[in-house]
Amino acid sequence: MTSTAERLPTLFLSHGSPMQAIEPGVAGRTWQALGPSLPTPRAIVIASAHWETALPMATGSAHPQTIHDFGGFPRALYEIRYPAPGAPALAARVTVLLKEAGMTGGIDGTRGLDHGAWVPLRWMYPDARIPVVEIAVQPARGTAHHLALGRALEPLRDEGVLVIGSGHTTHNLRDFMMDRRTGAAAEPAPYAVAFASWVGERLAAHDDDALVSYRELAPDAVRAHPTDEHFLPLFVAYGAGGTASRVEQIVEGYEGRALALHSWMFH
Ligand code: ZN
Repeated sequence: MTSTAERLPTLFLSHGSPMQAIEPGVAGRTWQALGPSLPTPRAIVIASAHWETALPMATGSAHPQTIHDFGGFPRALYEIRYPAPGAPALAARVTVLLKEAGMTGGIDGTRGLDHGAWVPLRWMYPDARIPVVEIAVQPARGTAHHLALGRALEPLRDEGVLVIGSGHTTHNLRDFMMDRRTGAAAEPAPYAVAFASWVGERLAAHDDDALVSYRELAPDAVRAHPTDEHFLPLFVAYGAGGTASRVEQIVEGYEGRALALHSWMFH
């Protein structure tokens, strides 16, 4: 495996339920093809919806543990390890970039990788050799903060680092579980379709103002995201892609009726 300093795209991935780790659907199949199709990164910085902090944080461990941050799933899921090395120097670089953008960030030396990170990564890079730094989201600080955080990380694209945001395009778990119990029809929920379409259109138009105000402007936004921690990684990836990125949709699909798996690459 050779490393590259070729300018890398950034990715927003809808990570699906933890079951995607053992039963890859449309998203998992895309991740499998995506890893080998990109220039091999020197390292990965991945923002996960499953790590919420007050201030921006990055994992600083040289050997981050695999966190099984879910309950009630088959044993096979708990046996999965994603033993990618960490990258303490890259974590430090992240805090420097944030500082240059006027943000205070910290390093957590013990935090491992949660399933928001390792579920897609185990399909993209199954040999787990590429070092990974996970970064947190700050739900109390809103969308504009995450866009700025992403923008601050854009220089990493030229340093051989693949920046990924791992969340969900729609994420109403209550609807998802209800549909499971009632065995609702297989078609995606109309509100999820409408919201995902709106997001795709606004991304393609680089309509930052609308995206930042999505809760007021997007159709059924609050139903699509009762809380918005799963939407915030989109802003990190989109922001890191820069102000003039080419926006390419790489996944269109749903898990159940309520979880849109739509994902985008920003070149
Ligand atoms: Zn999740």
